[in-house]
Parts: sequence; structure tokens; C-alpha cells
Amino acid sequence: MTRDLGIAVVEITNIETYDTTLRDGEQGLGITLSLEDKLRIVECLDHFGIDIIEGGYPTSNPKDIEFFKRVAQLPLTHARIAAFGSTCHKGSLARNDAGLQALIESGAPVITLVGKAHASQVQHALRTSLEENLRMITDSISFCVQEGREVIFDAEHFFDGYDADPEYALEVVRAAQEAGASRVCLCETNGGQLPASVSAVTTAVHKAFPDLMLGIHCHNDSGCAVANTLDAVGAGARQVQGTINGYGERAGNADLLNVIANLQLKMGYNCVPDLSQLSDVAHFVAESCNVTLPAQTPYTGKAAFAHKGGLHASAQARLEGAYEHVDPALVGNTSSWVVSELSGRASLVRKAESFGLSIEHDEALCQRILDDIKQREAEGYAYEVADGSLYLLMLRHLGKLKSHFTLESFRVIVDDREDTGSWAKDATSEATIKIRVGDVRTVATGEGTGPVEALDTALRMAIGESYPQVAAMELVDFKVRILDENVGTGAVTRVIITTSDGEGNWGTVGVSENIIEASWNALVDSIEYGLHRIGV
Ligand SMILES: [Zn+2]
Repeated sequence: MTRDLGIAVVEITNIETYDTTLRDGEQGLGITLSLEDKLRIVECLDHFGIDIIEGGYPTSNPKDIEFFKRVAQLPLTHARIAAFGSTCHKGSLARNDAGLQALIESGAPVITLVGKAHASQVQHALRTSLEENLRMITDSISFCVQEGREVIFDAEHFFDGYDADPEYALEVVRAAQEAGASRVCLCETNGGQLPASVSAVTTAVHKAFPDLMLGIHCHNDSGCAVANTLDAVGAGARQVQGTINGYGERAGNADLLNVIANLQLKMGYNCVPDLSQLSDVAHFVAESCNVTLPAQTPYTGKAAFAHKGGLHASAQARLEGAYEHVDPALVGNTSSWVVSELSGRASLVRKAESFGLSIEHDEALCQRILDDIKQREAEGYAYEVADGSLYLLMLRHLGKLKSHFTLESFRVIVDDREDTGSWAKDATSEATIKIRVGDVRTVATGEGTGPVEALDTALRMAIGESYPQVAAMELVDFKVRILDENVGTGAVTRVIITTSDGEGNWGTVGVSENIIEASWNALVDSIEYGLHRIGV
């Protein structure tokens, strides 16, 4: 692609992006994806402009076989789907190999075959000869190519293998190229290499095979997966493999989004047409995997452009970029103005602006809000992750807060009826609440596995008729922390609730010496904010 910079037309190199979230990513601790999740992720990545999306092994389970059937029906506009599998077994022909047959039957236009590139792994793990390993690679690739598929060869343990026996590692690459692989991907399987050696080895391979398109696949065991990937590109690799948010077994894979952002913003390569989708993709995939994206995730995390220190925040407000490496808008993120007792007026004003509230003109108002926040933080509140509660607090000071309901009383019963020895088991909870919406008084009883769920159910029942919009709101995360620093009042409990309405997430906070009371307060804020944000 070319980009006209006004003075001269500069040639920009495209880097092919290859996502393996649905295979390597799903190996990550705590990550499970349903078939529907996988299909939605494919659509999301296709829309983002990822070139190749690997769907998994079409042989491993019925869910994966079904995936390839369903994905073929999706109207993808850009991405090609890859099926993943191994080369044929030792001593057998590719055309008789059930695994390779399944790859062909998956209908995937791209087949990624993994084979060994490390001589001693071939001899001791695979227990076969170096020649037989080359035969397996050649036969398997040729078979898939003859079946009309594009083949990517993943050279497993390539870097460690090159360190031990560079001649053999290069022979493996040659065999793959001659058999018709369109790309050979150098895999840093154990994740222990550092950028300098990844760069040197990739340079050597690129020099030996200047016409071969090289890929790079890095794991993060030394914390260098992204750096190793970037250095491999600098050394000649033209395909980058990784997973969204770096999900993957052990310490994870290279975070493909970080790789893309760095390649495009810092190194002048082209990967995707619209980088500003980056943060949305990160959060969408995190939600699909049912995990919270760590706030500190570079580029895409909620805190990636957050300014807490009073000095940083005021400097950043005076000079855009004073403490930001790139404009957050380029990656679809925003400077968030973390409000805490450390920060001053500048942060507060910017935070209010991000909510669409203007408080700048009124210095006395700003001071009252700051004092209130300070007082509450001393009591145990934390607003860094509780934007919903902070917004409501500001509205209250602006005299714009509308209370959608008022609580008359609640009662919660936790019951453990079965005799299961000294430990309780399968206790159930029931909550009864009395609520007023305008002049209407409602009494509702809800059940749940825990007291908060029971209260949540009862509250929704009580106000659901007046505010049907609450049906779309779902409690997605619930965190409890006991704060013992507030001496004098005894230990207090802080509850942070994250709620989603499918369009976005928000956090709310409640604090009390009583965990149920803290939870209730966070719950009320979560519903109130949810109604305010859609203009009810
Ligand atoms: Zn891997």
C-alpha cells in the first residue's frame, strides 16, 4: 500500500496478521469459549481486518468440527480461516492420515501444519530419525497443497532448535518451502528467548531463504513475546501470529493487538485499515472469554492512558501528550482521568467532561465535589473503577440527580437446611424488599444462591414494571475487599460491582461495616447509573 505524505509517495510494507486466539488463546487459564463465542470473535476480527483466523483442530472435538461448518457460512469480508493440525505420523503416508483427512474435510482454505524443527526433539520426543521427520513434513504439505489448500508450516521449537543445530533447523525450513508451504512460521514455542537472539536467528533464516515469506509465533514466558515479534519483523518476518490480549497457556502468547499497534504506530508498517477499533476488539474478546481485561494492558486497558498523580494530571491537562506515548484516540482508547484523593481540580474537570458534565466555571462547586470525594475515600470508597458511582455523585452536587426509586426496607435470610456436617453446603438466600417508585409501593421477594443475588433479583422484580430497561442490565463482576486501614470504625467492606447492558460496562461502589449493606449500595448505584446512562 502507499500513503501520500505530501512530499513523496512512501511505500508502506504490509504485515500479514494471523490470530490464534481460538486455539492457542483458549489454552489460557480460565478461558473457555462456546461455539457462538468463537463465531462472534471471528466476525469481530474479520471486521477489524485480521488476515487469517485460526479456528482450531477440526479433529479434537465435535464443537470444533461444527465450528468449521458454521464459520464457512459466515459472510466474512476479509479474513481467511485456517484449520490447525500436525504433520502425518512417522512411518505412515500423509494420504492415509486421519488427522490430515479431517483438515481437508474441514473445508478451511488455509491449513496450518505444525512440525518439529528441533533435532533432539525429533529424536527423543518424536523418537524418529531426522530424515523421517523431513519426509513427514514434505509428504504432509504436498498432500494438502495437492488438495488445493494454502499451507502454512509452523516450525515448532524453531529458535531453540536453531541454537542446538542450525543446519537441521534450516533443512526443515527448506523441506517446507520445497513442498509448497506459502509461509514458514518460526515458532518460539517455549517462550524463553530474548529479542536479540530472535532477531539474529530470523535474520539468518531470511538471508538463507530470501524469497520465502516468514512468520513469527512467540510465547511470553520471558515477558518478551511482543518485543520478540517486533524484532522478528525488523529482521524480515512478514506474518505475525498472536492472540487477542495475549491469552494463551502458561504466560500467554504475544498480544496481537499490542504487536499491531507497535508495528503500525511506531515502526511504519501496515496491518489493519482502522487501528481505532483496537480497544473495542480487546474488550469484546475479553468479554467473550468472560474475563476482565487487566486495566494496565498497554494501549487497550482502562488505565493505559489514566493519570492519577496530581502533578502528572495537571501537566497532561496543560500539554496534551505530556505523559502519553501516543494519542489514545488512535487506538480507540481515551485519556481517563482517574479521580482519587491524589488528584486535583484538573482531573476532576476532565473527568466531568468525559461524562458530558461541565463544572469548570464553578470553582466552589469543584471544591465541594473534591471535598466530598476526599471524605468518602477516607471512609473506604474508591472511584478509580467506579465511574458509575462517581457520575451519580457529581449529578447529586449539580442538583441533577433523579432517584428512580426509594428503599423502605429490606430483609435477607440465608438458609442452610441440610445436615452436611460442620461445614455448610448449598445454602440458599431469600431477600424481601419494600420499594417505592413514585407513589407506588411494591413488596418483592427474590431468591438467589447468595444474599446479593437474592437482593438483585428482588430489586429487579420490584422496579421491573416501571423500568423494563433493567432487564438488559447484568451484573458481570462482584468484588469484595475488607479494609482494615479505617481504624476507629472497625473493618469496613468495600464492594465493587461491574454491570453490563450489552453496550458498555460500568463500575459502582458501596462501603459499609456490613457486607450486605455495602453490596446493596453498590447495587442501587449500578441500577441508577444504568438508567441515567440511557436517559431514563
Ligand atoms: Zn503457540
